[in-house]
This record gives sequence, C-alpha cells and structure tokens, in this order.
Amino acid sequence: MNEIKIFCPATIANLNCGFDIMGLCLETIGDKMIIRKSPEKGIKITKITGANLPLETEKNVAGVAALAICKEAINRVSFKHGFEIEIHKKIKAGSGIGSSSASAAGAVFGINELLGKPFSKHELVNFAMKGEVVASGSEHADNVAPCLLGGFTLVRGYNPLDVIRIDAPSEIYAVVLHPNIEVKTSDARAVLHPMISLKDAITQTGNLGGLIAGLYTNDYNLIGRSLNDVLIEPLRKHLIPNFDQVKNAALQNGALGSGISGAGPSIFALCKCQKVAEKVAFAMSESYQNTGIEFDMHISKINPNGVNIIKN
Ligand code: ADP
Repeated sequence: MNEIKIFCPATIANLNCGFDIMGLCLETIGDKMIIRKSPEKGIKITKITGANLPLETEKNVAGVAALAICKEAINRVSFKHGFEIEIHKKIKAGSGIGSSSASAAGAVFGINELLGKPFSKHELVNFAMKGEVVASGSEHADNVAPCLLGGFTLVRGYNPLDVIRIDAPSEIYAVVLHPNIEVKTSDARAVLHPMISLKDAITQTGNLGGLIAGLYTNDYNLIGRSLNDVLIEPLRKHLIPNFDQVKNAALQNGALGSGISGAGPSIFALCKCQKVAEKVAFAMSESYQNTGIEFDMHISKINPNGVNIIKN
C-alpha cells in the first residue's frame, strides 16, 4: 500500500465533570486526509483545503505528529521513504471539537498503516499528543485519545500515558452547537483558578465516578445526573454568548446533560436516542437564533472506531 485515505473524526473533550481527562468521538463530522509514501525522506504537507493553515511541517499539528511517529518507527521497521500529507478540513480550527487533534491523529494513524502497523492504537496517542503542542502549547491527549480509539476515553495519567477506552452505551447521541466566534484556548485557560475548594473537588470526583459507572452499566439516568461541572463551567461560560439559554433549552427538551465542548465555543448535549437528539438540536438552535451569531449544528452517534480508512 502506497497511499491511504482516512476519515479523522471530531471529538468532544471534558464532558463537564471530566476536565482535561474525558472525551468522546463523533461520527458525522470529521476531516479527510490522504497520506502517501514519497521517495523523498521526511514529511511534506502538500495540500490543505477548507482552512487557512500552515503548510510548513513544524507549524502544522499533522506535520509534528508525523515527525514524532517516524522518529520512533525507525526502531521497529526499516523504511527509507518519506510521507506526503493532504488535509481536507471540515472541522473549523478553534471550534472546540478537536480540529487540531483530528489532524494529529489522522497523520499518525495513516503513517502507521502505511508502515504495516508497528504501533497499537494506544501507542499512537503518544505521537499524536506531540502534534498538539503546536495548537495549544502542551502535550495533551483528551481529544487525540477519543479520536484514535473511538467511544469514550479517560486519560488517567501521563507518566506513563494511561488511556482507558470505554464503550458508549448504544443509544447515546451527541448534539453540538458551534457558534462561529473564536474563543482562544489561551483565554479559556486564563480564566481558570489554580486552586479549588475541597468541597468542589469532592462534588466533581463524585460526578466523574458516576459518569464512568453510568457508561459501564448503560445507566442513562446516572450519566445524566453526573454530567455536571462545578469547577470549570462557572468560570468559562461567560466567554460563550447565550450559554445558559442554550444549555437550559437542551435540558428542558430531554438532554441527559449539556456543557462546554473542549475550551469552547461549541456547546454540546448528550441525549438518549435520535428522536430526543433531534428535539434537543431544534431547541438549542431556536435559542441561538436571536443572538445574531452564525452557528452550525451537528447531531451524531458516538463513533466506536475513531479514525478509520475510507475505502474507495
Ligand atoms: P479546537 O478548539 O477545535 O480543538 P484547537 O484549538 O485544537 O482547535 O486547534 C486550533 C489551532 O491549531 C489553531 O491555532 C490552528 O492554527 C492550529 N493548527 C495547526 N495545525 C492545524 C491543523 N492541521 N488543523 C487544525 N488546526 C491546526
């Protein structure tokens, strides 16, 4: 195989009580990438459509992630060629649904396939994380893990990287409202407090435990009760116009829970079944009409596979 075409899904990180550690993978929205072997050594980004992003390898998360896997792959397989990468963006950069992660995950997945899969999907998370430094200044796995592994993921720790994949209960749907405004991740980080109260830490860990237990036992009510965030949402929600109205609209129309996707500005809701998801999506859009801000809506099942090959 000399060339591979892949679907690189969008992801939702944090999931209210799982700040910086929980994520899930979406099915209906994602980028396409084409990776091919090239006689020239090294990594070259040859084409980007759908977004104005740097073609320079070191400035693009896909390029940096690709360099990271190639550096390590030399120790497992012998190859003398390089790789060319095409990125066809559908996920807007800075949307809060893992735009950069999709590129990082796609690059390492594609190269791993073309090299004959020397690494497991879990191992690939390590390389994709390196690409994230370009986007956010730090190696973090809360979007690249669900993008690569699918389902829900928990990043338990980094030293060494310990990622747990959890199957999604079969009826869960995600709804995402993406307002077309920019919330810089640095601004969303700057509003956070370095210290938290013991009371809030207990509430948050209780909810996180409840979310994990609910996912494992398919207990939708428990998932809903647990989708609360007492630490981050109260400090960040003012960065997203009409956040409270959208969240209330989602909850009043049957969503299990709703919150900020990643660092925002996207707002997500989780719902049991497609019918509820459609009703919730309608209510969320209605509550945003009067803001004058353009927005996109997505409804998606949870993607069980993560990044995958597009067969022609
Ligand atoms: P999101 O909020 O959707 O997760 P990020 O904040 O992760 O988006 O990433 C957006 C930032 O990463 C932008 O500054 C963008 O210029 C940079 N970036 C570099 N390479 C890419 C890429 N291939 N895809 C998307 N963003 C990229």
